[in-house]
Amino acid sequence: MSTTWKNWSKSVTARPRSVVRPWTLPALEHTVEAAIDDGRRIKAIGSGHSFTDIAVADDVQLDLSKYSGIVALDLARQQVTLRSGTKLWQIPELLADTGLALQNLGDITQQSIAGAIATSTHGTGLAFGGLASQVVGVELLTGTGETLTVSTSRNPELLDALRVTLGAFGIITSITLQLVCEYDLHTVVNRQSLSSIIQNWHGHNTRNDHFEFFWFGHDDHVLAKTSQRIPVQNQSDAARTPLTSRLLDEVITNGGLSVVCHLGRMQRSWVPWLNRVATRAWGSADRRAHWSHAFNSSRRVRFNEMEYALPFDDIPEIITELRTLFRRGQLSSTFPLEVRAAAPDTAWLASNHGRRTGYIAVHQHFAQDHREYFGRIEPIFKAAGGRPHWGKLHTLDAADLADVYPHWSGSLALRDQLDPHGIFSNPYLSRVLGT
Ligand SMILES: Cc1cc2nc3c(=O)[nH]c(=O)nc-3n(C[C@H](O)[C@H](O)[C@H](O)COP(=O)(O)OP(=O)(O)OC[C@H]3O[C@@H](n4cnc5c(N)ncnc54)[C@H](O)[C@@H]3O)c2cc1C
Repeated sequence: MSTTWKNWSKSVTARPRSVVRPWTLPALEHTVEAAIDDGRRIKAIGSGHSFTDIAVADDVQLDLSKYSGIVALDLARQQVTLRSGTKLWQIPELLADTGLALQNLGDITQQSIAGAIATSTHGTGLAFGGLASQVVGVELLTGTGETLTVSTSRNPELLDALRVTLGAFGIITSITLQLVCEYDLHTVVNRQSLSSIIQNWHGHNTRNDHFEFFWFGHDDHVLAKTSQRIPVQNQSDAARTPLTSRLLDEVITNGGLSVVCHLGRMQRSWVPWLNRVATRAWGSADRRAHWSHAFNSSRRVRFNEMEYALPFDDIPEIITELRTLFRRGQLSSTFPLEVRAAAPDTAWLASNHGRRTGYIAVHQHFAQDHREYFGRIEPIFKAAGGRPHWGKLHTLDAADLADVYPHWSGSLALRDQLDPHGIFSNPYLSRVLGT
């Protein structure tokens, strides 16, 4: 019996012919071997938190939600090997009492470790890469029935090729992460003028461990969020995070935003005014939290998103161009843009490959057509040499991507070698890889 699968934003649907949920490595290996023998296509899914159709499985859907937990923990090297279906929110619990932590995280922790890394998921911090930068080892089952064990010590170049995979090179069974000593984050959130933020874009990112800002495009102010890494304090997180800060988070990302989106959908001409009201509702916050709670926030208002990785130094110019379009009424959205940064990475298909990166993300409520809004912005990102987030909406194809990824042909050749019959492919991969 076929079941219907939907991604988080409900923009993508799949009807796999069969769904397999292995609990053990032998069961997982058997499922992949059977698919190869029977000439079927097989696709692993994580938590379905990609906005693109990258995780669509129309034949065998490999649901790894039960394949989670620690395979090995090396306290001396500060490394952990996790089963590929482990969710990011499970990791702090798995590392409890080790004094170890992930180096950096994005906005949410619902994703699986393999799914998040496959799409080059990132947070912010100019001295830090994304999740893929923390990977020191990967084990994967290839389309030819082999098990490939890749690590920084054995085969570093191959690891660079296989840290960000888009799900195209094989089924990842485990991932080894380099951890760091646990830390707290001291975070300050406040309203600042957009002009001063873009004038000091470089300084904000070099002076702070983590910097990002949220901007409703019709307003001249932004919500700036700066965080410093500090030693862990032995207090409960509730004591470290004042209630006002938690309420502020709730209002910004959920309750208040939901009302703004509703009103903006009712009457589009109200959007500039709603942007200004929403920006003024932003208060300030000063909080301290353990790393395990500091990065993520809950996102209950559903949306669709496009995000591009851009040359770090070009962010002020691109934001200025977008501001002009908002002022002329050529762009409109009830959601704020989110702007972040990351250090360069050597992973071949990482969106921050080889350059200091600034990220600009744009969102639209899931019940609203995003195509006009995203369609006006995407050419600006593309012209700036941007690389789309693999898990977020974009229209680029293989020819476009070959221009912005220096290892593109090497990636395609490796994929032909590891998956010669395209058993891990789907329509999204056919578009972006061109085969
Ligand atoms: C509310 C929300 C907030 C987000 N915030 C951020 C953010 O802050 N930063 C950011 O960069 N992104 C963010 N994202 C995007 C998200 O991190 C990525 O799309 C991520 O890939 C989703 O992980 P997942 O586990 O749901 O993977 P899925 O979407 O289920 O799958 C993604 C890809 O991984 C592959 N895959 C999964 N498991 C395996 C495996 N074991 N072996 C091989 N391939 C595998 C799938 O086949 C697919 O190709 C956000 C998304 C949402 C919905």
